[in-house]
Amino acid sequence: EPWQSFLTFTGAFVIFSAWLPYFPSPVGGGNIFYHRVNSFFIALISITVSIYFNWYRANNYRHQRVIDEQNKELCKANERLNKEIIVDSLTGLYNRRYLAESFHIRFRDYIDRKERKPLTCLMLDIDYFKQYNDTYGHQQGDECLVEISEIMKKSLPMETARIIRYGGEEFVIFIFNCSEEQAFVYAENLRKTVEKSHFLRRDTTQGYLTVSMGVYTEIPDSTDHSEMRGFICKADEALYEAKRAGRNCVKVYK
Ligand code: GH3
Ligand code: MG
Ligand code: MG
Repeated sequence: EPWQSFLTFTGAFVIFSAWLPYFPSPVGGGNIFYHRVNSFFIALISITVSIYFNWYRANNYRHQRVIDEQNKELCKANERLNKEIIVDSLTGLYNRRYLAESFHIRFRDYIDRKERKPLTCLMLDIDYFKQYNDTYGHQQGDECLVEISEIMKKSLPMETARIIRYGGEEFVIFIFNCSEEQAFVYAENLRKTVEKSHFLRRDTTQGYLTVSMGVYTEIPDSTDHSEMRGFICKADEALYEAKRAGRNCVKVYK
């Protein structure tokens, strides 16, 4: 600190100057005045240099703090962005980027585990949704998508399920550690909840919105890391079976 350097160097100068007369030069000559002038300038330069160093370090410290703060903010923004880019903005569910970039890591970890447990892939599609949009407009269609997403979140075991908005009105759901029977119960429950929610529509004979689902369950093969696509394909096939069977139903891949 400047006051410390001032005390140190001025103190040293004063003590040195006061003692000078008691140490006369062995070769004679009264040059005490010049010694005092010299030591005064040395003390002055020392004080100046130390003040400059103090200012320099304080400045550096301030800059470092600003950099650290900006770094922290950047990290936070980065974290937020990383979360946002894997979430669908309309429904708040995961999007396809999550499936492609993050979920496959989770999938690989799951199939690499020693204890082999079944994994379920469920594919859900809203029935005659294009027609619904044509009748009620896209805005109301969007509201339906949001409400059906909320129903999915409530009807599925969220600790083990990952719900991904796969396409416009198509959702892929992976449920870890879930047998075919359990998956069928979840899917039927979900289908009935949507049915009972009575999203009314006058454009179909049924009079309300329905969903169809395809289910595929398997104990994954730990040697095949590309199997995730197989799960989706098979659940999709089961979904098409449900559509062919007249919609508003759940079909299990056989
Ligand atoms: P199906 O019963 O065979 O599934 O018939 P569908 O009409 O539901 O299926 P199709 O694939 O022909 O149409 C899907 C429609 O989903 C087309 C589009 O109007 C609608 N859609 C896709 N994304 C969105 C969205 O983000 N918002 C809204 N409102 N509609 C969407
Ligand atoms: Mg559809
Ligand atoms: Mg579709």
